Amino acid sequence: MSVTLDLAAPLARSVAPPRPATASLEKPHLVGMDRDALSEALRGVGVPEKQLRMRTSQIWHWLYVRGASDFAAMRNVSRDLREKLDAAFTVARPEIVEEQISTDGTRKWLLRYPSRGAGRPVEVETVYIPEEGRGTLCVSSQVGCTLTCTFCHTGTQRLVRNLTPDDLVGQVMVARDRLGDFPAQDTPDGAIVPAEGRLVSNVVMMGMGEPLYNYDNVRQALAVVSDGDGLAISRRRITLSTSGVVPMIRPTGEEMGVGLAISLHAVRDELRDELVPINRKYPLKDLLEACRTYPGASNARRITFEYVMLKGVNDSLADARELVRLLKGIPAKINLIPFNPWPGSAYECSDWDQIERFAALVNEAGYASPIRTPRGRDILAACGQLKSESERLRKKERLAADAAA
Ligand code: SF4
Repeated sequence: MSVTLDLAAPLARSVAPPRPATASLEKPHLVGMDRDALSEALRGVGVPEKQLRMRTSQIWHWLYVRGASDFAAMRNVSRDLREKLDAAFTVARPEIVEEQISTDGTRKWLLRYPSRGAGRPVEVETVYIPEEGRGTLCVSSQVGCTLTCTFCHTGTQRLVRNLTPDDLVGQVMVARDRLGDFPAQDTPDGAIVPAEGRLVSNVVMMGMGEPLYNYDNVRQALAVVSDGDGLAISRRRITLSTSGVVPMIRPTGEEMGVGLAISLHAVRDELRDELVPINRKYPLKDLLEACRTYPGASNARRITFEYVMLKGVNDSLADARELVRLLKGIPAKINLIPFNPWPGSAYECSDWDQIERFAALVNEAGYASPIRTPRGRDILAACGQLKSESERLRKKERLAADAAA
């Protein structure tokens, strides 16, 4: 599911982005490959064995430190090698179909990727959320979703395909491009970005799709994103959110080493079966046990439990008390998410007073329970609102969602 920023009001801007070189339909992508695969690719175009290591580092540096999106930019690579690489591979960004900028600085990009067997090109949304000391990028893992969480807009869009490592890393590259976050780029005038530090400092796998149903690609992409000689976003600043694919939770901690977030939303199986239907397969007891034993979880590195506040559904104080009881023994914090309506959704957001009472009870029990400020509502970038162009809302529907918010 996806993240949030607030926009009380109107006037989100939709800007026409430059049309970057569109990723080729035929050529394999170098972005997203691990070093071994990159090395193999270079060997394949004739780089001599004794140069392989040096050339791999060189290309890696161009891609991830300098942000090159074209072989021609790689000036210290011989023309001959650049031409061979260009003939065999691509390093182009995904096409930006649309860029929307919320009044609070949240940015949402609609990106188009090659079909890769899905029948036609596919589209996903990526959201950037600037805050005081950080800039968080909410990355999508699938086009659509097989799960059908009833409060989530993405859940109404059937799964089209899994995103590949280059699709996934491409989302980070586009964000850094558009924010001017590579050397030799300027941040656009008026852009809202963190006052200091890196512009994209954190990544959350909370966009469209269930990342643990695309495990191998997500693992490979996050290894590239966290590589210290490249994009260098520390694993401590990466959080993966799952609806509860229990068997993959431990491997996530062991192999990816990233922070864990759980899309919880209900404290009784009966209700969670309805809100987050994967609960029928992996009920609360199993999910919480997997959290209790998550590798690397500690008081300094708590598991985040996301809890969307649905009026009259899951927001009673009895629910809050049960939540506290369930989380006993787990280093946890709870993100309370005011429900972000979307056209056709069956729920209403809890009253603010009730959200505060719920938060106070959880807080008194010793759990941090921030109420997530809705961000980007005016561009439907808020939590649970993402959906791709193929089924995008008409403007009229967007205004209706705004009015309901
Ligand atoms: S909340 Fe996540 S897992 Fe559930 S339908 Fe939405 S995108 Fe899929």
